[in-house]
Amino acid sequence: MPKRDGVIVGVDLGGTSMKALAVDARNNILAVEKTATDRNKKPSDLIADIASVARKAVESAKLEMKQVEAVSVGAPGSIDHNNGIVHEAPNLGWKEIKLGPELKRHLGVPVVVDNDVNVGLVGEHALGAGAGAAFVAGIFVGTGIGGALIAGGKLYQGSRGGAGEIGHTVILVDGPLCSCGHRGCAEALASRTAMERDVRAAIQAGQQSVVLKLMAKKEKSRMTSSIIHAALKQDDEVMRNVLERAQRHLGILVANAVNLLDPERVVIGGGIAGRLGEDFVGPIRKTAYEYFLRPDDARRVKILPGQLGDNAGALGAVVLARQRLGL
Ligand SMILES: [Zn+2]
Repeated sequence: MPKRDGVIVGVDLGGTSMKALAVDARNNILAVEKTATDRNKKPSDLIADIASVARKAVESAKLEMKQVEAVSVGAPGSIDHNNGIVHEAPNLGWKEIKLGPELKRHLGVPVVVDNDVNVGLVGEHALGAGAGAAFVAGIFVGTGIGGALIAGGKLYQGSRGGAGEIGHTVILVDGPLCSCGHRGCAEALASRTAMERDVRAAIQAGQQSVVLKLMAKKEKSRMTSSIIHAALKQDDEVMRNVLERAQRHLGILVANAVNLLDPERVVIGGGIAGRLGEDFVGPIRKTAYEYFLRPDDARRVKILPGQLGDNAGALGAVVLARQRLGL
């Protein structure tokens, strides 16, 4: 059977679910498969699940694995992209997992692995809100806050592949405790997790809010982006105040990034930006402008919501694999 030119499977490995896209050489999506990420499984079994969802995407595209050029995975945590090793992924409970080599053994094709936020920005840069720009900063707001940088048209990795941890920029000294152990990080102030903590605290303090009722109705244990959206539509004051505070902190974070890195574009990605679009990014942009060192940057630097939504990571993984493997 002939190789189909340039077909690559991109996988977005998240803490709650994983998604595989079979993508052709022109970046058309041929098939999509999704499955839950069972964090209780041991790493080798979870890797078998990743192989299985990749295989399913290939089957749905009416292809065979031997027709596929490569499989490329965006994984959470710190990654040795040269060797495909996940050093540490707290979301998955992984430490020193040989994801790339193990997947290659399952699937028999080259495997590329990189950080989920890095591939998300590569996707937005190639096919979405960052297209055509050579210097792009990406800030992804979800359970946590991740960052990545495109410099001179290429992903900037830092000296050890550790660049981009903008979520742990301290914005408020002695602020709320962060998952990293420090206080007042942007992630502890403006991530979806932080917003949920603040909404729950306001309700505990006696303020009226529909958020917990919406969560019960939609059978969600967490305040997802769709819950935030639904609460805002009902003009929930607690939700609006909490979101506005998060947006203010994110605006300061964006300004810090612009003043430090001098990008031509900033892409705000992740689920909330995907769901709320300009309603999320508009107030962030306004605050960022206040904190720009060069006032003329307000005209020069575009701050935009991501355009690829949930597909940014898997599509970016495909684009990155092409660059790495010279396809
Ligand atoms: Zn932190």
